[in-house]
Parts: sequence; C-alpha cells; structure tokens
Amino acid sequence: MGTSHSGSNNSTPPGGSAPSGSSVPGPAGGPPPGASGPSPSGEIAKKQRILLVEDEPDLVRGLTDVLEFEGFDVCNHMEGRPGVREMRERGADLVILDLMLPDINGYQVCEEIRTFNQVVPIIILTARGQELDKIRGLEAGADDYVTKPFSIGELLARIKAILRRLGRTQGKELETIRIGSCEINLKKHTLTRARKTQTLTFYEVELLKMLFERADQPVSRDEILDKIWGIEAYPTNRTVDNFVVKLRKKLEENQHHPHHILTVYGYGYKLVP
Ligand code: CA
Repeated sequence: MGTSHSGSNNSTPPGGSAPSGSSVPGPAGGPPPGASGPSPSGEIAKKQRILLVEDEPDLVRGLTDVLEFEGFDVCNHMEGRPGVREMRERGADLVILDLMLPDINGYQVCEEIRTFNQVVPIIILTARGQELDKIRGLEAGADDYVTKPFSIGELLARIKAILRRLGRTQGKELETIRIGSCEINLKKHTLTRARKTQTLTFYEVELLKMLFERADQPVSRDEILDKIWGIEAYPTNRTVDNFVVKLRKKLEENQHHPHHILTVYGYGYKLVP
C-alpha cells in the first residue's frame, strides 16, 4: 500500500530516550501532573498503545520521546488514511490526532475511526482560537482537544486522566440505565430510543453516568469538569455545554425543549430520569 515512508513506530534513534535540553517540558522536570500519589494497586500495567497522527516532525519527535519515557507504546503516522488503517488493523488505546494533515483532514479521520470503534478516546490538536474547529472535532466524535501550542505536560495529564477513567469504567458497575424512554448501555456505549440505537462517545457516557448518579440534583459545571475531565479549570465550561448539546440530540425527543437534561442557569445541569 506504499506507505512505508510514513511508516509506523516513528523515527526515534536507537538509544534516544528521554528528551534532553529541548524546549519540550519533559518528565525530567518533576513528576508528571496527576501522578503525584502512590499507584493505587502497585501492579505493573501492560504497555498502552498510543496512535499519533501528526505530520510535524519536531512535534512527533518530542511527543514520542515523552510518551515512550512515560511507558507508552507510540505509533506515528504522518497522514490520515494510514492512521485509520493502523487503527482498524492493530488498534490503539488512545488516538492523538492533528486536524491539518497532508491527505484527509483530522475530522475525516475521526469520523472514519468512529465507524468501527466508538470507544477509543480521541484527542484532537487544534490551532489557537479556532473555536469552531473544536466544536466540529467534538461533533466528528473526538473526546477532547488541546490547543496548539500546548505544553506536553498538559497533554500528558489529559491522556492519563482519560485512560484512568477508561480503566475504571471497564470494571464492574452498572451496565444499563434508563432515562425517559431511552435505554443506555454504559458498557457498549449505546443509547436506544424508539428502537433506534445510537452510539455514545466516552465522555458522553461519563457525563450521563455522573448526572444519573446525582439525579434530580443540580451539578455544577466546575464539578463536572473536575470529576470527568480530571483537571481543574480545564477545558472550559463551553466543553461541558458542547457535550450536553450532543447528548440532548440523542436523548431528548425535542432537544430544544429538554425534559431530561435541564439547564440550571449560571450553575450547571440537572438530570431528570
Ligand atoms: Ca499538521
């Protein structure tokens, strides 16, 4: 298929390990965010695989070094189509996706991945101030975004927060919940209403679950951000609102007159099952 030039497993030279003296804030600067406490179980996890679809060589090199240093397996593709193929054939635990790629754009990559994998967390890299890019990316099925230029520490914290929550979700817990006439399968990430089944993304499920656990009580945007995204004051309150808009589309009979996910003005949201 002639893609060897953009091949897999990046171009880190043998022996190149931790970043040294680069402008990239690396793990040498102290414990990574969110990793200050002792590991809860103390066991050694198997290496998690990150698919990095990005065409800026410097960024690829910097990210790969840091992620490998943090114990991830990293696979890079410089173009979108080989990235989708990689995901289909070998899979990954998380995808970091640039929007501007030489062949197809990041939204298309995201949509294509979502046709066969609804669960893998996808973080998109957007340019500063491109609010529409973020919304479009989230609509295409991305779970999260970071804005270029970003610090690698920030991206790492997001990656870890998502993977931590995903690990927790795959445990026991409730399998299905009912909201109105909808049945939501929290493990399969599906929502069924009027015999029509739609898929939910990772954060949509997390948000529904949190609101459901606190049914009939207002939950603040700040708390949602903190508990679901795992990082204080990030991303922005708009992120929560965007996810609510997407959820209402799927959940409500009339998304403009919601009966289940209600806005609590100036505060947050309340779920009425
Ligand atoms: Ca690019």
